[in-house]
Amino acid sequence: MTTIHLALVDDWELSGNGSGDIRRLQFEPLRRLVSIYDRLGIRGSFNAEVMQQITFRQHENEHNELKVLADEWDDVVRETFRQGHDIQLHIHPQWQNSEYKDGRWNLTADWSILNYSREAARQMLLRGKEYLENLLRDINPDYRCVSFRSGAWCIAPSPHMLDLLVELGIVFDMSIVAGVKYDTRNIKLDYTNCEEDFLPYYPVMTDARRVSDKVEPIICVPTNCFYASRRQVLRHHLDKTVTKISSKINGPTTVSNNGRSVEAYGEQWAQIDGSLMARVYRKAIIPYLRGKHTISDLAQLDYALMMEMLNSIRKRSRASGLADVPVVLENHTKDLHNFSDLERFLEKAAASSDIKFITLTELARNLKATFKIKTQSLLEHAATNNR
Ligand SMILES: [Zn+2]
Repeated sequence: MTTIHLALVDDWELSGNGSGDIRRLQFEPLRRLVSIYDRLGIRGSFNAEVMQQITFRQHENEHNELKVLADEWDDVVRETFRQGHDIQLHIHPQWQNSEYKDGRWNLTADWSILNYSREAARQMLLRGKEYLENLLRDINPDYRCVSFRSGAWCIAPSPHMLDLLVELGIVFDMSIVAGVKYDTRNIKLDYTNCEEDFLPYYPVMTDARRVSDKVEPIICVPTNCFYASRRQVLRHHLDKTVTKISSKINGPTTVSNNGRSVEAYGEQWAQIDGSLMARVYRKAIIPYLRGKHTISDLAQLDYALMMEMLNSIRKRSRASGLADVPVVLENHTKDLHNFSDLERFLEKAAASSDIKFITLTELARNLKATFKIKTQSLLEHAATNNR
């Protein structure tokens, strides 16, 4: 039997454009999620988006309300860490040089860290790492940032991003989620041809989508994705449509998703590529051929889809022939509105003998000792064996 080492990872942040009520999008759902973890004896991991926090701090002298919120952010992070959960590094560059006016943020900087110079990217990573390490080292002097997830998954290709992470002492990156492709106003990236979408691997240092032919100073652990069945996708969409219609009938006050408007999200992430036919193909035809490509983001899944995700993970773990497989899941506290499905899923997983929960720090510590790290020659070897 293969043991699945599941890392429950949550990108903890405001909306991509800086909007939203920080208490409702971050502090309250985080505390609620942590209380579920604590009840089940699970230790989770939170990728604290730290550019936002640094920006709050930059403006706190002119705006006392920002100081109050930034202090509370520190408190929540420290309280979570003290309870045994992990805090790791997540960076959204669009917070750089932002303006704060009439209680609102205006974010104008580029969303993709891939579009910044080596030095600008280095500064953001370094400041983020130092902020978290300064915050948490008096609770645990050994604390350090060991993993990275880039804002909007932007890690490849890049002539310097992986080198910078190595320089900062990052052990593994989890920004690759195979199969996603964005061509939006804010983000352009193409991960449709990743060479490994499930197991840890040594990446080509200038293109994390590719597997290196040798041992490298950093490891990629892909964020999990799966193909959801037609039946579940259809049912999930129908449920969502019913929710939307009933909230329209009940008036605009109930439309809000933790204070985050669905319309604003759609506008931020609208795909600008392709003809009508291309969109129909992507949205309607492909899902019916292969199942719908789905990021394992628990905030976006209901219980039935989470169980499909777990079945896919089990199948692939078994097929790997390995005794131990690490799997990184995604979550967004800001998008979590159905805690009961998540809780039910976690209860089920916690009771399964083939699943162990691990934090990102534990994953970093055990990567080479416990888990097999792929190189290109291992990939070829596996391909030959499968033939
Ligand atoms: Zn993020």
